[in-house]
Amino acid sequence: MTRIDSIVETDGALVLGAGIAGLFTALKLAPMPSIVLAGTRPGLSGSSAWAQGGIAAAVGEDDSWQSHAADTIAAGAGLCDRTIVELVAREAPDRIQDLIAFGAPFDRKSDGSLALGREAAHSLPRIVHVKGDGAGAAISATLAARAHESNAITLLEGFHAVELAMEGGRVTGIFARAGLGPDARLILFRARAVVLATGGLGALYAVTTNPLEARGEGLGMAARAGAMIADPEFVQFHPTAIAVGRDPAPLATEALRGEGAVLVNGRGERFMTAIHKDAELAPRDIVARAIHRQIVSGQPVFLDCREAIGASFASHFPTVFAACQAAGIDPAIQPIPVAPAAHYHMGGIASDEHGRSSLPGLWVVGECAATGLHGANRLASNSLLEGLVFGERVAADVRGQLAQGPLRGAPPAPPRFASPAPPHVLRSAMSRDVALERNADGLRSALDVIARLQNTSSEPALLNMAAAAKLVTAAALARQESRGGHWRSDYPPTEKTGARTFMTLADADRIAATVEALPQRANK
Ligand SMILES: Cc1cc2nc3c(=O)[nH]c(=O)nc-3n(C[C@H](O)[C@H](O)[C@H](O)COP(=O)(O)OP(=O)(O)OC[C@H]3O[C@@H](n4cnc5c(N)ncnc54)[C@H](O)[C@@H]3O)c2cc1C
Repeated sequence: MTRIDSIVETDGALVLGAGIAGLFTALKLAPMPSIVLAGTRPGLSGSSAWAQGGIAAAVGEDDSWQSHAADTIAAGAGLCDRTIVELVAREAPDRIQDLIAFGAPFDRKSDGSLALGREAAHSLPRIVHVKGDGAGAAISATLAARAHESNAITLLEGFHAVELAMEGGRVTGIFARAGLGPDARLILFRARAVVLATGGLGALYAVTTNPLEARGEGLGMAARAGAMIADPEFVQFHPTAIAVGRDPAPLATEALRGEGAVLVNGRGERFMTAIHKDAELAPRDIVARAIHRQIVSGQPVFLDCREAIGASFASHFPTVFAACQAAGIDPAIQPIPVAPAAHYHMGGIASDEHGRSSLPGLWVVGECAATGLHGANRLASNSLLEGLVFGERVAADVRGQLAQGPLRGAPPAPPRFASPAPPHVLRSAMSRDVALERNADGLRSALDVIARLQNTSSEPALLNMAAAAKLVTAAALARQESRGGHWRSDYPPTEKTGARTFMTLADADRIAATVEALPQRANK
């Protein structure tokens, strides 16, 4: 049996992930003690620190939570859970007030009220932002600073979590590695409540806007422990990643299109006006597929900000400006080359309105959770919001529910191998076959690649990534229609009535097993 080097125990909660969802949950749990465990430095960690646009909330004078809820439901293409949408839209303004109380420096108008931006598929301006496009970095830094100041919170970075610890059918902790290779140490963190806030899975795709730590490992860990997973097939592709060959691809925020920037092809033609009444501000999946089709037809696509933003680009969108400059592009006078990239996972570990997963002792929050808010397609700037609303709800529920009684015995430990990056073969299969346009042949081929990985490794981190990829792919194969972020070229229509997907890893294995017997397409 593998030796555990140390056991760290807390009487409070263990939060895995130091993005906005994990940090906000820990701050809301205080004064209850918590350990926040993360791969990278709190404040800079996860997709959170990279978020550009901001957070959606009905805080404007003419706005209402009902309008925010209606826009969210329209974007979700028939699969949103109305109860969840309404509670999130209703609680959003209070969570923005919480962030202000923590010190988040939101942009304000000259009269002192919050400055609000507009993004695609929102009926009116309702995005609170910081320094134009710097919301994620500023809010992450603010929450990390408050967490450092709190006596209740222990922040630990540089750990790679690989497996949930289960005792008596309850999640009681997490196994994590520190260090690499033969020097790696295996540590069991045990707690009375375990919260996963591990973010998304964009880095399982070869072309992504996500940091490379966003590789679905929390989802995979929970799935391997038997948790119910919801809507895994729905992955959102951001239409306008800056196409300059960088991994991850830098983002040209949607707010640029909100300000009037237009999409043109290599011939200088605006193509979105013929596709949707809202043109460049149509829902993300529609814009992303339109760009994808231009590119597949041999036309490069550019985001032209010259007229709408021009000389004020550097001051209004400093993050995007810096990314353009690094690639030798001056967006004030040159169009920006763009392409779609894997950006956000609508699916995740199924959760109820308190953030409880199907496994006793395990709560989930942020992008790794599937609450039913996003349906088949996320409305822009609703994801940071979901992390805040459910951070508060998880904290309240954990406080009320902490398991009593001593923790028992040590669960079996995973091996202490090195922690690998997602293999190239997996990332390219996901980008080729499980991306914006899917079909049965491609999905079967991707399942074959995933099965080979699973069959040739006992490395838990790799098995977590493979499990996450398998759930996305098997659910995409099972959904024989097109809806929201999921487009099947062999099943283009949308069924009249749609239902959310709920499946376990065992269900995904069964779907994969039915295709394993079929002849596979040669893998390129
Ligand atoms: C470029 C970009 C721009 C975006 N812009 C916006 C926006 O304007 N508005 C909006 O609402 N959303 C936006 N999003 C989406 C949003 O940023 C994410 O959905 C959100 O930040 C997720 O927060 P989180 O706390 O759930 O996860 P993350 O912020 O991704 O944090 C995940 C945490 O889990 C840790 N972790 C994961 N796996 C392990 C492991 N195995 N071991 C140890 N630690 C682990 C990571 O180290 C990290 O600390 C954007 C995303 C990107 C990539």
